[in-house]
Amino acid sequence: MRAYWDHPYESQFEAQVVRAWSEGGKHFAVLDQTLFYPTSGGQACDTGHLGGVAVLEVLEDAKATGPVIHRLESPLLEGQRVVGQLDWARRYRHMQRHTAEHMLGQAFLRAAGWNVVAVNMSNPVCTMDFDGPPDEAVIRQAEALANWAVYANTAVRTYFINDAEAPAHGLRRAPKVAGLIRVVEIEGWDRVACGGLHVARTGEAGPIKITRFERYKGGTRVYFMAGWEALELFEQEHRLLARLGEWFSSSPLEVEKPIGNLREEWRRARAENAALKDELAERIMRDLLTEFPTQTMAAQVPHSVLDMVGKRLAEWPGVLALLVAQAEDKARYVLLKHPSRSEDLQAIWEEVLKPLGARGGGALVKLGVMPLKSLHPALLAFQRYLAQER
Ligand SMILES: [Zn+2]
Repeated sequence: MRAYWDHPYESQFEAQVVRAWSEGGKHFAVLDQTLFYPTSGGQACDTGHLGGVAVLEVLEDAKATGPVIHRLESPLLEGQRVVGQLDWARRYRHMQRHTAEHMLGQAFLRAAGWNVVAVNMSNPVCTMDFDGPPDEAVIRQAEALANWAVYANTAVRTYFINDAEAPAHGLRRAPKVAGLIRVVEIEGWDRVACGGLHVARTGEAGPIKITRFERYKGGTRVYFMAGWEALELFEQEHRLLARLGEWFSSSPLEVEKPIGNLREEWRRARAENAALKDELAERIMRDLLTEFPTQTMAAQVPHSVLDMVGKRLAEWPGVLALLVAQAEDKARYVLLKHPSRSEDLQAIWEEVLKPLGARGGGALVKLGVMPLKSLHPALLAFQRYLAQER
């Protein structure tokens, strides 16, 4: 009933529903035969349609001894004959990933004696964990070996053996199952026990690209892409580099230099900007202290230095101030006082700023926004409030 093993390149089939049930709002079906590969051995399941109903997920038990279970978008009837159609583009990519995984497994063994510890092929960027320490030279050598195996375009065969025969077959790693063992052989290159689906010749799995590697659990985690997905990555990266090249009137592979220059320039400009703002804030504070000898002040300042001027003034003994600034389509304010002033900042805020639509808060320094039209009225209301006080 696992028809996908004998017909990995077929994507349409007919079958009978031998069991169908629903539980917890989910619908399931078992068929007399299926081309839908269930999630197992690091390979993600197929999706597609059964009798026009979407197949969302395909499952089997951990030992792969039970039936293949299809989870469906809506129920099917027991006994019903259905046409199954799987998403071939998705499946083919899975076959490319999986074959590339075998090729890399053997390539790392040949390059440095590394063994595969774990595999994840459920995403376009697949991972393989090895038992060797991270080593750039090993990575490059194994990648080259795997791609030579692609160009050799070797046949990939599968067959079953008994577990007793396994030692004689020189499998790359000991099989995890007992009894009947499915062997996947890349002729003259690699032989391993595997229940997954693979392309017919190694040329179909290329190109194989290792995109990144890192230390992982005492060994190395290798990230790779294969086949169409590797080509798509190359296409995306090439487009990005070409676009950046246009921005900088440079060739795609030479954009690093102008981008480096821009970064340097930006860092310098940022430091210069900070120093200039600092100087401006200091000057404005001095001017305000001269302009308002009573140290009670209401003034509009540039938005870019509002906070800095506010912070400086709040440290100046005897100061009570309302500063406002225009920030695009709204006004910002800082209402502050030095602890030596006896006024109740909260009371001022409630009487002067709140009626003008101000939002915000704070204890000795109140920061916030208000509608742009309240900018000048706020300064007048503040002055009026202080005049009443006296
Ligand atoms: Zn496999």
